[in-house]
Amino acid sequence: MWRYDDTRAAMRDALRLSRAMTYKSAVAGLPLGGGKGVIMLPGPVDARRRKAALRDFGDTVDELNGKYVTAEDVGTSAKDMETIAQQTKHVTGLSRRRGGSGDPSPWTALGVDAAIRASLERKLGSGDPKGRTVVVSGMGHVGAALAKLLARAGAELVVTDIDRSKKQLADQLGARWVTPARALTLSADVFAPCALGGVLDHESVPALQVPIVAGAANNQLADDPVADLLAERGILWAPDFVANAGGIINISVELARGGYDPDRARRKVEGVGDTMREVYDLAQSEGDTPFSAALALAHRRVDEAH
Ligand code: NAD
Repeated sequence: MWRYDDTRAAMRDALRLSRAMTYKSAVAGLPLGGGKGVIMLPGPVDARRRKAALRDFGDTVDELNGKYVTAEDVGTSAKDMETIAQQTKHVTGLSRRRGGSGDPSPWTALGVDAAIRASLERKLGSGDPKGRTVVVSGMGHVGAALAKLLARAGAELVVTDIDRSKKQLADQLGARWVTPARALTLSADVFAPCALGGVLDHESVPALQVPIVAGAANNQLADDPVADLLAERGILWAPDFVANAGGIINISVELARGGYDPDRARRKVEGVGDTMREVYDLAQSEGDTPFSAALALAHRRVDEAH
């Protein structure tokens, strides 16, 4: 759920996000396709209109008869899924109390943490975040959970958000707070984009001062050639649709026969690290960027499914 300048921008975002979901499920080896719903809110929206928009969205999901199953993402919560569930049963990520697997964000963060460790190992020789400086941009559901995991592992944290109220959490974690623009040019070990897409472009990438970019945001590349630019600068980029698969992996456990099991979910989500290594190995053996290698893997899995 987001504010867009016009419906064309919202439509473009839905198409890009659904493509990423397809790649994400394919690379993670899940028996799922890919889809995304975008709710465009005209502002200002009060609680009543917001609820009405969620109900309308629930009706739309219901008409698809289970071909599309919805879940939380940016701008929505487990509580919002309960509103949608009043209109359709094709909802995941409902609270544990309601028989669901809850908010997927902590699982997404756990997967990104595994991707960061695999990237540190590949680029800097050790996967241990202790003493490494990590810049987390976007302290929302996933970014905050990731920052907590990294703080616990002994990383030096620098964080940012356009919402200054998030500084309180930064202080609690002992993290340094910078502006979003400054976060993009800081000298550090890892830049972790955890806000919205398009953050890596032909202006930001030349200014980056990090050997690794690995984060949760969907569609981090403004366009596909940015992947080549990152490689030319010697920056290891963890393809977003590989690194941020933890949430959908957790949801796949909810959809599996036998129902939800958090221990199984944790084991599967931690497997994001192995998938990341597989992508880096493939990239190295083919002389490709990690982005091309991850795309090739996704296309191969989709073809196999056909
Ligand atoms: P969220 O809405 O909870 O958090 C996003 C945060 O980014 C907010 O705090 C917002 O203020 C901040 N932000 C927005 N623009 C910014 C900017 N220019 N610079 C710095 N901060 C900015 O969303 P979320 O659920 O944490 O998702 C974050 C990203 O991860 C999104 O791109 C989302 O699509 C992706 N993602 C989320 C999940 C999930 O499980 N929630 C799964 C896969 C991918």
